[in-house]
Amino acid sequence: SPVHIHDIVSDWAAATPSAPALSDAHGALDYAGLEHASADVARALADAGVRPGDRLLVVGENCVAACVAVLAASRLRAWSCMVNARLSAREVDNFIAHAGARRVLYTGLASRDALAHAERHGAQPWPELAGTQLGPLAPAVQPEPVSPDPARQVAALIYTSGTSGAPKGVMLSHASILFAADTTRRLRGFRPDDRLYGALPMAHVVGLSNQFLGTMASGASLHLVARFEPQAMAQALAAGEVTGFFGVPAMYARLLAWSRDTGQRLAAPALRYMGTAGAPLTPALKADAERAFGIVLHNGYGMTEMAPTIAQTRMDAPRADRSVGHAIPGVETRLLGRDGAPVADGEVGELWVRGPNRMLGYYRDEALTRAVVDEQGWLNTGDLAHRGADGALHIVGRTKELIIRSGFNVYPVEVEQVLNAHPQVVQSAVVGRAVEGNEEVVAFVEAMAGEPPSEAALRRYLREHLSPYKVPSEIRFVPCLPAAPSGKILKNQLKQLAAERVQ
Ligand code: ATP
Ligand code: MG
Repeated sequence: SPVHIHDIVSDWAAATPSAPALSDAHGALDYAGLEHASADVARALADAGVRPGDRLLVVGENCVAACVAVLAASRLRAWSCMVNARLSAREVDNFIAHAGARRVLYTGLASRDALAHAERHGAQPWPELAGTQLGPLAPAVQPEPVSPDPARQVAALIYTSGTSGAPKGVMLSHASILFAADTTRRLRGFRPDDRLYGALPMAHVVGLSNQFLGTMASGASLHLVARFEPQAMAQALAAGEVTGFFGVPAMYARLLAWSRDTGQRLAAPALRYMGTAGAPLTPALKADAERAFGIVLHNGYGMTEMAPTIAQTRMDAPRADRSVGHAIPGVETRLLGRDGAPVADGEVGELWVRGPNRMLGYYRDEALTRAVVDEQGWLNTGDLAHRGADGALHIVGRTKELIIRSGFNVYPVEVEQVLNAHPQVVQSAVVGRAVEGNEEVVAFVEAMAGEPPSEAALRRYLREHLSPYKVPSEIRFVPCLPAAPSGKILKNQLKQLAAERVQ
């Protein structure tokens, strides 16, 4: 069985060399081709000065070349760090500086933005990997210590989504990522004849661990898509090209909105698996997606710090609610109250987790690592949850996002779910705003194109479905909610926007 992440591909290259592995808009590789390409690129990177323990940054969007680079880094025992090229120059440069990149590789074939970043940094075309540019060597950078133990050796440095503040650099070992990839293969039942649609950015942990390496662990094939476009995806689904798909809820919402706006029906004759993770799933969205595609929408809960999988719904026990299911085998969970003691059955508590997939720590931030991981290895997720009667977990929001209005707890997710169920709402985000020793509820709403509801109508609707203290003090319509490249809504930005209004 695989020890380092590139071994996943080596194993299938030996077993089924000519099976399709990866494709994008520019080309395709079978398993043998991917194995050879990553070996060649590893040699070329070593010649270009990348040593074991160095950080190789890959700035780009989903494409075959980025996958080859990640596998090549693994061969060298270098850390790969995928950075989404859609981020601003300032954000990308912060990551390059924080990671202390020895070299930066730009995958420009699939991304104009990657080319722009490459140009800004004086990168040169790199013929060793078609369509890429290689930035200059950073001579002063020191490699990090290398460990023969795959549970101690960092495979990937992944920056968190930045939902609640500045992104944090998470160090994930080979063993932790392999655990997540293998969990995907085993529990999702992927087979070599599966064809996954890869629209979740590889810079996000789900894009790397579950989508890319989970597909590779199954000997299946992955079609990499640089940018999620509802129309292109709907066409691929309708053509029967796709048997599996991982998305964030926003992607499903956009597919359904596209179908409504254009009057075109969604169909997916070959689809066997669809999953969502990364953000709360609304029961209405789940029901709509299931009606449109005719299969169950599975929910999964995790975080970058857990490589990422913590809990997921079971293939043999699909659920109608928005629960994230039970913890996956090997991962322990507990719910603690403010006093640090376990909460009573059914009560909301802060979710702590422990398992072989836990991060090695936040890079260059031991204090923050110690603040979230205790001596027994438990990690505080910062999420609030409760267990249903069957023991399944229900995520109710983040500790940081809990709004306390006149002494009452308001969980933004609950308000968002009611808003999202309104027929004229695409998606929404609810945040708190501090006012004179109290907190107000502020809602940002992205309305359906063409027919936005009036604020008064939306308020009437909310009052019918929510206790008065949960009804937002302010409802603000926005053309488009600020989102990370993965589609996750950036609540931190909205919190700032909400605060600005009162000043
Ligand atoms: P940052 O840590 O920078 O604020 P982030 O927490 O959004 O960003 P990720 O690691 O991508 O970065 O996301 C993990 C978080 O996403 C979880 O802690 C949880 O709050 C949320 N989440 C993930 N999956 C689900 C889900 N199925 N339902 C509800 N929330 C989810
Ligand atoms: Mg987080």
